[in-house]
Amino acid sequence: MHVSAPASDPALATLPVDKKRKLQHVHDGSFNALGEQGHRLAREEYLKEQGLRLKVQAKLDEKEMALHEMRNKQACRDKKQADELDVMKTQYRNDIQRYRQETFTAEIENRKLRTRLTQRDITINQLECENNDLRMELCNLKAINRNGHSQAPVTSSRGGPTCVPDKDPEVHSHKHYPHDQAPRENRMFGGFQASEHYAPGTGKIWPRKYGSGANWDLGLCRIAFDTDKTCIDSRCEFRHHLLTANERKYIQLLTPFGPNFLRHIDSCTYAKVMQSI
Ligand SMILES: [Zn+2]
Repeated sequence: MHVSAPASDPALATLPVDKKRKLQHVHDGSFNALGEQGHRLAREEYLKEQGLRLKVQAKLDEKEMALHEMRNKQACRDKKQADELDVMKTQYRNDIQRYRQETFTAEIENRKLRTRLTQRDITINQLECENNDLRMELCNLKAINRNGHSQAPVTSSRGGPTCVPDKDPEVHSHKHYPHDQAPRENRMFGGFQASEHYAPGTGKIWPRKYGSGANWDLGLCRIAFDTDKTCIDSRCEFRHHLLTANERKYIQLLTPFGPNFLRHIDSCTYAKVMQSI
């Protein structure tokens, strides 16, 4: 029986070289003896190895499939993350844009508010200036008004002051307030100009110190009334004799300076009396 050469069998073509050589030996030497059995063994071994190779290939395919799926899943995750990142970036840019817009709007409002506040302060300042001017004007008018209703007569059967000064210190100490009916022994000191030079600390007590003005200037010597000394300057042009009772009553009404002035000159007089004892 003729058997075709094993080398032409596709099963033998894929066998390793050492097994081919072994089978070739069988073919050359004892194939005839072994015959079909040898060929069957070779084919069986070939199929066995083919099966193993296919199993390995199947596992390899399976692994590659799993790897592909993993890569695919990873790609999906990467894409999802990239999409989420894009969404976050877009949201972030929108937030920044909105924040800038809100900041810009707030700054505009702030500037407008500051402008209004400044304008309000300017208006308040103008009103305060006008108010101050009106107060000054009112004070001047009260001071100039010689027959003002505030000068109510004082009832005194013993020759007390015949009027009370205006209750407003700014009025009764004003230089234009006339003190028309105020008690005075000598009118010469109204607008009096001294002919002598007086050193600092001497001369006349300014009427402002007892709450009066230029129109009721008693011409009081500063040494005689404002210190515990006696004026011995023979050239002194100012008054040295004590205040009358009516003058004291009137000065008492010239708040707030008048009462304080009386207390002060009384303490000076007391000191002089004590020195003379
Ligand atoms: Zn004097």
